[in-house]
Amino acid sequence: MKPGICKKHGGQNFALTSSDLVAAINEGKMLSSSDVCKITTSSFGRKSETFVGKGFFRRFFEDPGVSEVSLLDREKDLKKMNDRLLIRKIFSDPDLKFVCAVCLREIIGQWD
Ligand SMILES: [Zn+2]
Repeated sequence: MKPGICKKHGGQNFALTSSDLVAAINEGKMLSSSDVCKITTSSFGRKSETFVGKGFFRRFFEDPGVSEVSLLDREKDLKKMNDRLLIRKIFSDPDLKFVCAVCLREIIGQWD
């Protein structure tokens, strides 16, 4: 998973997403909000958002009514693991790739 350079926007590819969204970007295909799920991760006081395809999301979150989750990384001071193991499992998945954040935003426009 080595970040590259976006041919269209010239910037670094630094947003992680699942391979089905990578394919959609390459095909220039717009997605509807029902195709895209959002994982918000709070880690050491910093929040980050990751947009992934529904298929990828369902591998970890089976409830069909859920398309958005918030995960909390461990709190070392409190000796709490929280969702750390799940976070590690999701973000070490080989199906996640780096893409251009601008390209990603273009196909998932309805998420703000
Ligand atoms: Zn781009």
